[in-house]
Amino acid sequence: MIPVSEAIRIVKEQTPLLQAESAPLVDARQRFLAENIEADSDLPPFNRSQMDGYALRAADVQQAPATLRIVGESAAGRGWHQQLSVGEAVRIMTGAPVPEGADSVQQVELTREFEDGTAVEILEAVSPGRSVVSRGKEIKKGELVLGVGEVINAGSVAVLASFGYSSVKVRQRPRVAVLATGSELVDVDQKPGQDQIRDSNNYSIAAYAALAGATTNQLPLAGDDTKLLVRQIVEASGSSDMVISSGGVSVGAYDFTKPALRELGAEIFFERVALRPGKPIVFARLPGGALFFGLPGNPVSVAVTFNLFARASILKMQGASQTELPDDTAVLVSGVKPTPDRDSYIPAELTTDSDGRMMVQTLKWGGSSDFISFARADALIVVPMGPRPLEAGAIVQVLHLPQ
Ligand code: AMP
Ligand code: MG
Repeated sequence: MIPVSEAIRIVKEQTPLLQAESAPLVDARQRFLAENIEADSDLPPFNRSQMDGYALRAADVQQAPATLRIVGESAAGRGWHQQLSVGEAVRIMTGAPVPEGADSVQQVELTREFEDGTAVEILEAVSPGRSVVSRGKEIKKGELVLGVGEVINAGSVAVLASFGYSSVKVRQRPRVAVLATGSELVDVDQKPGQDQIRDSNNYSIAAYAALAGATTNQLPLAGDDTKLLVRQIVEASGSSDMVISSGGVSVGAYDFTKPALRELGAEIFFERVALRPGKPIVFARLPGGALFFGLPGNPVSVAVTFNLFARASILKMQGASQTELPDDTAVLVSGVKPTPDRDSYIPAELTTDSDGRMMVQTLKWGGSSDFISFARADALIVVPMGPRPLEAGAIVQVLHLPQ
């Protein structure tokens, strides 16, 4: 049995980086950058008005109200490119360039233009620079905007578009095949017969893997049959970067995952981690090079072990700068008991108290098979192994679960 931290270290050490490829910007969301993104121009590229109003010299309107002569108009995409002089104003729109000579913009609501359009009364003084975003204020040409390993989110898509990236270099998406073992399982569209249940692990693993950036392929249910298991793993591994199975990894008479791996000649890195829930978990490399995670069968153990280990591997394949679950500290609402020889990762819900402190509450749940309660969990409380219970009010480490 190895510690969780050691297991994570091994997973990262054994995980290869996938190739880079070019992705059209419209398909790039949630992918990981394989190139640094630099600004190809100053932003804004000119002194830009933030308001509809009048570009002017602040000094001219210190004794407001003051009347200025209108000498032109600057619209977005069609600026007024002459020199503004003392006593003059230019009608200006949001997003338009502020003319040379002007240093500020007074918003239209605080002005009154003459009916003949020749002059404008400025009703209130402005300070220099008001409502003007100066050239290069947001970013200067050549500066690093986004770095290798960062994820492209909806916000950074706008940044990439601004700097002309119609396509962008990203890591390939890991191809993950998902395989459920267990003769008790039927698929979601079947009515379970006597002694049967519907498979849920294939669906939750595929959902979590997709959240981590993988493309997924669900294999037909494998039953508890070593031969079938071997055949499915061999077939899947040819076209996958990773195969994830659930169930059949403990010491029951029908736990055939490890025998199947041995028959295949897989290189097994670990098969037991000091973790609760989820002690039996296999990490291996298949002969063709694909990685293999054999997760336990309990749906909650699946969620915990996937997110601690397989998720980190999927992210590492994509060169992600952050491969582990984001962590935080929170105040325990009610006490929790540790396990003497294993670290516990207890499903929990985060809330905020009236002082804005983050609180964490374990779910009312029936242990590692209670995936109905688990559906509400948004965090795991990390409870280090040992004898000492954590009391209500203690500050504990929590890991945020992907949603
Ligand atoms: P195992 O690890 O195969 O002994 O399975 C442990 C428990 O998880 C058993 O109660 C199984 O019925 C259940 N289980 C295993 N695989 C699945 C699955 N794909 N979906 C839902 N429950 C499962
Ligand atoms: Mg089983």
